[in-house]
Amino acid sequence: MSDWVTFPDGRRGRLGWAWDAERAALWQRMLASAHGDPRRPICDCVAGGRRLELAVRELIRRDDGRQVRRYCLARMPHGGTLHQAGCPFHETDARRSGRSGYQQGVIRELPDGRLRIAIAGGLEVRQPAPEPVAAQGAEPANGAARPRQARMSLLGLLHLLWEEGGLNAWSPEDRRRRTWWPTVRGALDDAAAGIIAGREALSDVFATVGYRDADGPHLFAEVAQQCGQSRRIVLVGLVNQITRYQPQVADGQPPRPPRLRVVFDGVRNYGLYVSAPIEAGRRLARSFPWAWRVLGQDPRDRAIRVVAVVAARIQPTRSGTHFTAWADGIALMETAPSLVPVASFHELRVLQALQHEGRRFRKPLRYDAERQVVHPDFELLDTIDPRGTPMEVFGRDDEDYAARAAEKQQYYDAVYGIRGWWSWDATQADHWPPFPPASQLAARSTK
Ligand SMILES: [Zn+2]
Repeated sequence: MSDWVTFPDGRRGRLGWAWDAERAALWQRMLASAHGDPRRPICDCVAGGRRLELAVRELIRRDDGRQVRRYCLARMPHGGTLHQAGCPFHETDARRSGRSGYQQGVIRELPDGRLRIAIAGGLEVRQPAPEPVAAQGAEPANGAARPRQARMSLLGLLHLLWEEGGLNAWSPEDRRRRTWWPTVRGALDDAAAGIIAGREALSDVFATVGYRDADGPHLFAEVAQQCGQSRRIVLVGLVNQITRYQPQVADGQPPRPPRLRVVFDGVRNYGLYVSAPIEAGRRLARSFPWAWRVLGQDPRDRAIRVVAVVAARIQPTRSGTHFTAWADGIALMETAPSLVPVASFHELRVLQALQHEGRRFRKPLRYDAERQVVHPDFELLDTIDPRGTPMEVFGRDDEDYAARAAEKQQYYDAVYGIRGWWSWDATQADHWPPFPPASQLAARSTK
């Protein structure tokens, strides 16, 4: 399975060209000529004897006062699960992803294929701020399923952006583009273009912050201006550090309580200062202990990277050249250096071994779901199984965990067959068993 797309005029192109400096302009021209054509581009997937069609989506954004048109490809409404697991347009069956933790209607697919989400709190300033992490009820006794979430938290939104932008998947061709922030921003911007949060098109309030992104600062400033006083901005970027600072006061004024400053990688070029209440630190330490610990280390010593999503009121400084973002919601996510999310150090080791072996895989994300009966840690996408091959890393041996692991084993044995999935019990063996082999076909199609 590959990322090749065939256009109505017979030309072929690869989705990856969208983020390839040399081919991005050609790719945009190909999409522009297909936009509005009643014949649609197709990927290489076949369902019901037919190749699957794709939609060309037009994004209009303001850039230095000009209207700029950009195009991107999206799956057709309600067709995501028909694509093969290795196809970039594949949508994980909601029953096997953290999306199943939401009540019906929290993520709703619109007739045009965009997703309307119900987020906890909202993006309008007069609404309460989005919850960083949905309220976590106590785990019910006797293994009963926890009630589903009626709203998406900021963490859920970050997972949705990551998944829709394809950043939770990895193939060897990603190696170069994941280290270049403009490609990551492009993927996230495309994802945001497909999301409506309440009444807001997420694109209107969404910006990223990153290193060596020549266009990033003015795109951010444009969005910040649009948000004005009435709407919160949603910022995503890698975190360099979160520090305490003492707000300055005029002479003779009483001191103000200390606050936190969220420092994104590359933020220096954005004229942006992100400030958060001091209590946010305690909450982040509790909800994201691994990320919080890592942020206390020297950036050069960090095994993982930390991504933050921030919802904030945004204000230009008095001089008008800078912005202050008053964060009222922050959530963190741990990722490998390749930006694929990881939930534990054991997972990180497995992920790095998969990358070293040149494998293609995806990390299903948890969203706000607490407890997943069947939610693999990774899915290999280049094996002979077109559904993908589930991978489980068992990292604890307490009773509850063992019971859940047994439940998972039973499920995988029944659905994928005893040899159709992979697992490593990290509490028993220091090294993992060999990975299921890549199929020759999958290996060729990525060439
Ligand atoms: Zn496909």
